[in-house]
Amino acid sequence: MIFDSHAHYDDEQFDEDRDILLSGMEEAGIGGIINMGASLEGVAASQALAEQYPFVYAAAGVHPDHTGSLNEENMQWMYGLCRKPKTVAVGEIGLDYYWDKESRDCQKKWFITQLDMAKETGLPVNIHSRDAAQETFEIMKKEHAGTTGGVIHCFSSSAQMALEYVKLGYYIGIGGVVTFKNARVMKEVAAAVPLDHIVIETDCPYLAPAPNRGKRNSSLYLPLVIREIAEIKGVTPKEVEDATYANVKRVYPKIQ
Ligand SMILES: [Zn+2]
Repeated sequence: MIFDSHAHYDDEQFDEDRDILLSGMEEAGIGGIINMGASLEGVAASQALAEQYPFVYAAAGVHPDHTGSLNEENMQWMYGLCRKPKTVAVGEIGLDYYWDKESRDCQKKWFITQLDMAKETGLPVNIHSRDAAQETFEIMKKEHAGTTGGVIHCFSSSAQMALEYVKLGYYIGIGGVVTFKNARVMKEVAAAVPLDHIVIETDCPYLAPAPNRGKRNSSLYLPLVIREIAEIKGVTPKEVEDATYANVKRVYPKIQ
């Protein structure tokens, strides 16, 4: 079975057919999905989806673009959510120096605060890092290494950096980008990271794999990502599917 380790089904792009789509997942071989928090509204919506669908799990965390909305009070609310049985991760959290929607000080402050929340509640993390590879790595090494582990989602740095994260005990999230013709670095990452440290993800509705690039993405397209990774690694798609599913259970222990 296929596990989508990073999705945003609360996005308005799914408003018209969310239930039809999610109701067909198990039949299509999608055995599990983690719906990630991005904004505070997204965190609440992830909880609702996890309550509604047995195979959907929630993550609680605020994306760097939305860290300006965090305060003591809503952090306390998230602590409570982290202790629920179907909240399996703190995410997505990190640094985004590409969009720079919040000041870098604000992003760093809340990144560290949310890493603390993960440590204190015993949850792994799901990390978003864009144009901030070195600083993300430094913070994680200092604040989080060797504790609860987690996934570097939509990994977009070098193969060498990916292996540094693997050394710290993290897993690498690979999605649709690996299928793009010009994604040379991403293909190198998929080749370099051992199969027992890769998880697959959509980040849907974004980043649909080729040949659907630019369309609305969903977990139903994950076989395209699996096929690409299998080809790069010289193994069968079934091996990639089984290994990445086992990896999800290892990195997110609340999923069994
Ligand atoms: Zn995301």
